[in-house]
Amino acid sequence: MLLIGNGRLVTRSQGTGFYENGCVAIDGKRIKKIGETNQLKKEFPEAEFIDAKGGIIMPGFVNMHNHIYSSFARGMSINGYAPHNFMDILEGLWWRLDRSMNLADCYHSGKVAYLDGLKNGVTTVFDHHASYGGIAGSLHELSRAADEYGIRTCLCYEVSDRDGFEKMKAAVKENLDFIKVSQQRTDDLQKAMFGMHAAFTLSDKTLDYCVSNTPDDVGYHIHVAEDIADVKDSLQKYGKPIVNRLYDFGILGEKTMLGHCIHIGPHEMELIRDTNTMVVTNPESNMGNAVGCPPALRMFDEYQILMGLGTDGFTNDVTESFKFANLIHKHHLADPTAGGNQIPAMLFENNPQMANRHFETKLGVLEPEAAADVIVVEYQGPTPMTAANPNGHILFGVNGAMVRDTIIDGVIKMRNREVVGIDEEKVWHEAQVQANDLWRRINN
Ligand SMILES: [Zn+2]
Repeated sequence: MLLIGNGRLVTRSQGTGFYENGCVAIDGKRIKKIGETNQLKKEFPEAEFIDAKGGIIMPGFVNMHNHIYSSFARGMSINGYAPHNFMDILEGLWWRLDRSMNLADCYHSGKVAYLDGLKNGVTTVFDHHASYGGIAGSLHELSRAADEYGIRTCLCYEVSDRDGFEKMKAAVKENLDFIKVSQQRTDDLQKAMFGMHAAFTLSDKTLDYCVSNTPDDVGYHIHVAEDIADVKDSLQKYGKPIVNRLYDFGILGEKTMLGHCIHIGPHEMELIRDTNTMVVTNPESNMGNAVGCPPALRMFDEYQILMGLGTDGFTNDVTESFKFANLIHKHHLADPTAGGNQIPAMLFENNPQMANRHFETKLGVLEPEAAADVIVVEYQGPTPMTAANPNGHILFGVNGAMVRDTIIDGVIKMRNREVVGIDEEKVWHEAQVQANDLWRRINN
């Protein structure tokens, strides 16, 4: 038994939202009980006690869209790279990077990205992977890295025609192989989706090949209308908008997640709604790539689409996405109230709901029988925290580096900012050596 108490407890569970001095009792992989610290200490006197010292005790964060392979782009310079638009960024940076990535790059980028996630209080990561320099076995390398920390993750490989027919087929096979392996697991720590890059790098023949090979109960993870060029391509080549095209191939559905959806119209939103498809928005990435602001609030309010937040490889700290999401819509709509309710709902309610379309154990809430994925944030705050205002405190006062303890699946993974059983210095060092080697391969 493990107790985490003496903190401001934010449960995200209906009925018992907030305790001024609350405590979580964990038994095995699940939460056993929530209550006042004194009461639970009396009830479970033998339990190990983690003292939150007045900080915030809350569910671990879920990142619904990441690209772990992009970890090695930090600080990289590519000879001749000078992008003018999003297509230049893809061709000049990301595709050059992933074309050079081998299996060792995949493993070590996984080791640092998951470590960074843990340190930022992220307990579940949905990743969208590409490494066209080493396709077969690449998801296994990420899976292996995740298992070494015991972090929850859902993986897929982004199929694309951009490197030719044989590599496209290898990418499909990599998805199918990992889907099989993940379905044999019973620990609810790793899941699989079928990954696709984006409509403009997927011909009809390829989409047909993907869909005809994918088991029925598997969802797709694909970028949609991230840039207007994706939309133009679809209209010119196929005479229909992207979402209609995906719908016609049977790709939409409740386990499928579309990334971005920046340049889509009302009819496409209807198709997403009617098929109960999920959408993940990545505000920091959208601003960085200068691709526009998604109609996320419209999709959320008017179409009631299940919308979540991701980091899209920009960071492993989901609180950054939270802050950017809070600002982008206010700025774009010239409305200082925009997103006030919707953005916290995306991060704290929808991300776990979306993740639970793949993971069985209830995520994102602290209540009996839910997953024991809990974080302690070292935070005091200049004003009272009450049942009505934790989101305001987290938005303006919390970032990932303030996460002190991370517990996943009932196991203490980070205690006082030190990751248990991991030589962190070694992980960073090995990654740096590997990244340096990758950079050399890219520029030669
Ligand atoms: Zn992405």
